[in-house]
Parts: sequence; structure tokens; C-alpha cells
Amino acid sequence: MVPQPDSASPLGGAKVTRDPLSRGYFGLMNAAEAANHYFRKAARIMDVGERIETLLATPLREVKVQVSIELDSGEIRTFIGYRIQHDNSRGPMKGGLRYHPLVDQEDMVGQAALMTWKTAVVNVPYGGSKGGITCDPTAMSLKEVERLTRKFVDQIQDVIGPTRDIPAPDVNTNPQVMAWIMDQYSKYHGHSPAVVTGKPVDLYGSRGREAATGRGLLYVCREVLRDVGLPVKGARFAIQGFGNVGSHTARLVHEDGGRVVAVSDVHGGTKNASGLDVPALFEHVKRTGTVKDFPGGAACTNEELLAADCEVLVPAALGGALTARNAPDVKARILLEGANAPVDPEADEVLEKRGVLVVPDILANAGGVTVSYFEWVQNLQHLTWDEERVNAELEKVMKEAYERVATISRSRKLPLRTAAYVLAIGRVGKATVLRGI
Ligand code: NAD
Repeated sequence: MVPQPDSASPLGGAKVTRDPLSRGYFGLMNAAEAANHYFRKAARIMDVGERIETLLATPLREVKVQVSIELDSGEIRTFIGYRIQHDNSRGPMKGGLRYHPLVDQEDMVGQAALMTWKTAVVNVPYGGSKGGITCDPTAMSLKEVERLTRKFVDQIQDVIGPTRDIPAPDVNTNPQVMAWIMDQYSKYHGHSPAVVTGKPVDLYGSRGREAATGRGLLYVCREVLRDVGLPVKGARFAIQGFGNVGSHTARLVHEDGGRVVAVSDVHGGTKNASGLDVPALFEHVKRTGTVKDFPGGAACTNEELLAADCEVLVPAALGGALTARNAPDVKARILLEGANAPVDPEADEVLEKRGVLVVPDILANAGGVTVSYFEWVQNLQHLTWDEERVNAELEKVMKEAYERVATISRSRKLPLRTAAYVLAIGRVGKATVLRGI
């Protein structure tokens, strides 16, 4: 049901866009600055003190390696790879691996911290990390990407591992890349499927992982809508981005009776006030590779999408999509952060003042890392769960996390984002102190 792989990419479907969280692409702050801003805001409300604040904000380890490979042409090319390990007080560190021309150390530091807070919000026994290689995989052959991946594993195999740090797919990496990582790591350490998650289902991957982030968004959304007195059935959704997160969210919301009134991707958008025919939209994307020019809707720009008349806006494409410039135009009652850091801190303030309920990334899109945790558990126990079990366990985790965050938000009169950070910082801080500093 998901859009067909993009044949231009050797990794199939993983497109290089000037994406996510790249520094200042849409917003004024990069991911590191935004994560730090939200963290410090909550830490000060909690009055954790300067020393604990600095301790929690500082990454445990920042690894930067040279990855030299021979290209198909025979030329030797050197790439720079990173693995940033932010915190391990609650368990092995967990975070994606990104292949993108704009990967840099500072951005990775911010994203690693986000993972620490996200794993704590959903209470999976992990810390946070993130990594990447500064490269453009769309300009490389599959063999070159494989050589790059294996060489990178050679360089970092001593700092990752099932009990140390467990990578997963992120922008421009996919289950195939995870399979290579598992294979290469196992050459050093013996058979180790639990060293990465997001693997192919045929090679120790978990059922339900692919749709997990969108499914987690749906579960949280149901709770939020119930709290504001709106049923999902008939609620209008506008979704920016139609990749893994956006497309699964659209499909699941539609199956739940929601009305998807606008969607967009990097090429353009489509809208229909009475609700798009989502299965027909998937057929269109399968044929053309984009939601643009869908016959069942009218053309819609990204700016129009963000300002769409709807109950729920889901930015599921880029970091920094909402800024002080366009946040005043948002008409949605609820903004569900599908992407990481789609709302910059200035926009966050504007939305709060305007009464838009923002459901933060570290809660809303945590379904992916939660099912990654289930995959790791299955690998360690050498067994396989069926999809019903994965989805049922995911629902439990997402509901519980939302309930905890909403309770803090109500009792301390805090926005959901600050409440989520308060929950996460409390959990990470407690583990840090109990272990001993
Ligand atoms: P993806 O590459 O599958 O999809 C990204 C989508 O965004 C594509 O449809 C692309 O066309 C669209 N897009 C890119 N630039 C755009 C623009 N300028 N305007 C509108 N649309 C644009 O990526 P994904 O896995 O769906 O991830 C999306 C976001 O969610 C990222 O921020 C990612 O870090 C975050 N996230 C992903 C997961 C996961 O499990 N995949 C989990 C948590 C968070």
C-alpha cells in the first residue's frame, strides 16, 4: 500500500530531499538548537539545577570517522561518518542512521538528544543516539552504498552492539542497509541480529515495524481527540509529507473514518474538502511517484496545506516546517508532529498563544522506536510475534505515554511538549542519579 520505491534511488524509496532537520532549511534553528531549547525550558521548570542540566545535555560520546571506499570507477573517495551517543542511563542507546549530503555533527547531536527524550517518554529501556554519513546515496550505485555501509561498520563496530547502541533506518537508509550492518557486525562479534532494528522481515525484522510510526500517531491522535471531545470519524486531517510516516498515517486515519482533506510531498499537493479517496490516491502514487496531479483533488501548495481548514494538521516531512512566519496561518485545532522537530520554538510559542494543541514529536512519532524495541526483544528471545501482538503492544505503550504526559500537562498547567520533556527528564535524571554520577 505504501508508495512505490523511487527508481532513481539505489535504496528504493529513500529519496534525498533537502530534508529533515537540516540546518535552518525552513526554520531559524537547527535540530540541536531546538532540542536544547525545549530541554532547557523544561529543566528550568523542574529546577534540576545547573549541574544536572549540563550533565543531561552533554552527549556521552561523539564518534567521527573517516570512511574511505573504492567507487565503481576505481576512484578512492573519503566520506565522514558520525555516531553520536547522547545518554545510556536507561539502557543501550538507540537511534537512526542517516545518509545525506547535509549530515553534520551538530545536527546529529541534537537528534541524538531527541532520541534520549523520546525513548524515555514511551518508557522503553533505551538511551538516545543518532548517526549518519555525509554522502548522497542517490548519486551512488547499490554496491557503493553497500561498501560504504560495511566500511562504516568496520569503523564503529566497537562502540555499537545489542547492549551498547542499536542503529535503525532514518533518511535514505532502509531495511537492506540494516541487513548489511547486521551481517558486517556479526563478522566481528558472532551472530547478532539485535545490533540493528528495522531489518527486513525475512531477516529478523519485526512485523508491523514499517507502519509503526504512522500507527503510533493514530493511537495518540485517538486519545487527544477523545480528550477534546471529537471523534476520529469525520475529523478532517491535513498531512504534509507522503513518505513512510505520512502515507501510513493517511491510510490508517482513513481506515478509522477520518477525512484526509489535503496531502503533499516534495513535488506538490492535493486537496479535497469532502475528503480524498485515499486508496485511489495510493494507486496514483504507485503510478506516478507523487501525490501531485491526483485526479480526485485540486492542486494545493505546501503553504496552503499548512493553513488548511481541518481539525488535525500532521507535518510529517521536514524539520522546521512551521516557523513564526507561517504558524499564524494554521487553522487546525491540533498539530500532531509526525516529523522530528517540524515546529521551531518561535512557531511553538505562536501556536500556544493561538490555542493550537501541539502534540510533540517525542510523544507523537515514538511508535517507530517502540516497535524497534519490540524487534530487539524478539531478536534477543529468538522468537517472532505476529502483527496483531505488535500492534496491540504498541497501542498499550502509546496510550500509557499519552496518559502520563496529559496528566502532567493538566496538573502542572504545561503545554504537552513541556510536559513530555518533564516526564522524560524526570526518568533520565532519576536513572542517572540512581546509577551514581
Ligand atoms: P520519507 O523520506 O519516507 O518521507 C518524507 C516525505 O516528505 C516524502 O513524501 C517527501 O516527498 C516529503 N517532502 C520532502 N520535502 C518536502 C517539502 N519541502 N514539502 C513537502 N513534503 C516534502 O521519510 P519518513 O521516514 O516518512 O520521515 C519523515 C519525518 O519523520 C522525518 O523528519 C523523520 O526523521 C521523522 N520520523 C520518521 C520515523 C520513521 O519511522 N520513518 C520515525 C520517527 C520520526
